[in-house]
Amino acid sequence: MSRIVYVNGEFLSEENAKISVFDRGFLFADGIYEVTTILEGRLIENAPHLARLARSAKELNIELPLPIEKIEEAMRLLLEKNNVQEGALYLQVTRGPADRDFAFPKEAKPSLVMFTQKKNLINNKSVVNGISVRSVPDIRWARRDIKTTQLLAASLAKQSALDAGADDAWLVEDGFVTEGSSNNAYIFTKEGVLVTRQLGNEILHGITRSAILKLVKQGNIKLEERPFTLQEAHSAQEAFVSSATTFIWSVVKIDGNIIGSGEPGPVAKKLRRIYIDEVLAR
Ligand code: PMP
Repeated sequence: MSRIVYVNGEFLSEENAKISVFDRGFLFADGIYEVTTILEGRLIENAPHLARLARSAKELNIELPLPIEKIEEAMRLLLEKNNVQEGALYLQVTRGPADRDFAFPKEAKPSLVMFTQKKNLINNKSVVNGISVRSVPDIRWARRDIKTTQLLAASLAKQSALDAGADDAWLVEDGFVTEGSSNNAYIFTKEGVLVTRQLGNEILHGITRSAILKLVKQGNIKLEERPFTLQEAHSAQEAFVSSATTFIWSVVKIDGNIIGSGEPGPVAKKLRRIYIDEVLAR
């Protein structure tokens, strides 16, 4: 059965969902996006995702085509029409179609597109096995805090990791890990300190990161928000990543070095469990 896709106010079958070749999302990657998790048929943490969308739009001077409440309404309708119990809802706003020109066109009307994807998020083999990562230079632009659709650097990083037999890439800049190709990165050191990079323009301000750090601060784990090196990661007790659709996945191997026991560790497992319980209880 074909999905129903949202395109600029219309709910269409995916075969009929179309965008102009002049859309600046297509020509310039002049667009922003969000991925909201769906669990038990509900949108998870949608308010912070929409707040980040509004911030990304503001930073790029893109006018959202609808007020946030109307976007949220359309998301719920799309979810209902596709009857997704577990997976994700992808939402993209671009500056819209206009004759090709680097300068922002005055007449362009922003495009809004959304679709759903069914996925097993809770029962996933990466939860049981953990993942392996390969480090690659972080060649992305300098405003990674803005969630833009220009994802080629991240895509190249991920593909080079896959080609080398790993599951994902960790991006390294000036000797320090910034984040994963599509997730935030953490280590739990031998001294019992959870370390993850501080917020700034160098990383995406993950919605899951924010919720996890709130849980960490409520518990008794010591937290340091600072850059860490690959050498520190190699000797950590545990390493893991977070994102909306993975929640937390343990990283059990970095560039061939086994981390801790080589299996998902207790800190990542516990944080994953309490994070999922907490968002479902809301
Ligand atoms: N960093 C990057 C580069 C990402 O692409 C993502 C996923 N969108 C994240 C971090 C995690 O963010 P979130 O928890 O909001 O999914």
